Amino acid sequence: MIVIGIEGSAHTFSIGVFDSTQKKFLATVKDVFSTEQGGMIPNEVAKHHRNVKEKVLAEAFATARIDWKDVDLIAYTEGPGLAPALLVTRDFAVALAHEHKKKLLGVNHIIAHLEVGLFCTGAKDPIFLFCSGANTQVIVHEDKYRVFGEALSIAVGNAFDKFARNIGLGFPGGPKIEELAKKGKYVPLPYSVKGMDVDFSGIVTRAEQLYKQGVSKEDLCFSLQETCFAMLLEVAERALAHCEKKEVLLIGGVAANKRFAFMLDAMCKARGVKGYTVPLAYAGDQGSMIAYQGWLERKREQKDFDFNPKWRAEEVDTFWKH
Ligand code: AMP
Ligand code: MG
Repeated sequence: MIVIGIEGSAHTFSIGVFDSTQKKFLATVKDVFSTEQGGMIPNEVAKHHRNVKEKVLAEAFATARIDWKDVDLIAYTEGPGLAPALLVTRDFAVALAHEHKKKLLGVNHIIAHLEVGLFCTGAKDPIFLFCSGANTQVIVHEDKYRVFGEALSIAVGNAFDKFARNIGLGFPGGPKIEELAKKGKYVPLPYSVKGMDVDFSGIVTRAEQLYKQGVSKEDLCFSLQETCFAMLLEVAERALAHCEKKEVLLIGGVAANKRFAFMLDAMCKARGVKGYTVPLAYAGDQGSMIAYQGWLERKREQKDFDFNPKWRAEEVDTFWKH
């Protein structure tokens, strides 16, 4: 079965192709909205997606060496995400399915991140540490996916992006912060863990204050990383103990951070559990995870094709796992 997945819930417009016979991705093509200064404006992102969608599709088909006759199923991101961006994605998916007479499924973006993480790493039943631009959640699968802890104000990726934007590093901020952090040393920042939840807003405010007082970008980037990652790993460690799991899986765009993966590894070694980090190509948003999720859900039938900016992981019936 050949499934194409269309992702466009936030900054990235991407199309991936999954071949279920070979159990591999034939293409993952993306075009990412970025700015030198300023952040993500939803309508600008939607405009970006409209402008690049045909090009991304053509490139995905060329890379995968497929034609429409090969395609068995189309999956698209139904939510969560930015409403204008989800709308462009949905409309594109519906138009393609109609034109080429293909079955269509709308899937949950967060669940797709989790499932592609399992597929790529071989992890079986981990504590998921999901750290992306808009979401930061500690998730475990029981009868369905359950959120054990999360960021109370802004997500960790968002915190990095916000800090980066406000000190003139542009968007996305994570990779720039990681680079500058290599030359930094530690300055204390607020460490805010509340039960199983984490709060990143105060850290960003404090880091910005310190920047105005002359503390270097390098030191602040280093300290921001150390503090945020330590907070997240503390919560993940508690979830491990509580749920008696033996694996942790780091996923989402922030999983691209090498320092984070290193710290995760150290925590897991100390606890005698296994730590996994999703491969870079499938860490951030991409259409391949949507294609894979579509394949998992291939037996489902869907009539209404909506978009849902606030769709949570707990609301999804994980029938393919039972
Ligand atoms: P996602 O929403 O899953 O696509 O992830 C995007 C987020 O990941 C953005 O907030 C980025 O700033 C962040 N990100 C990407 N690369 C890195 C990195 N190397 N270190 C930290 N954060 C990163
Ligand atoms: Mg994402």
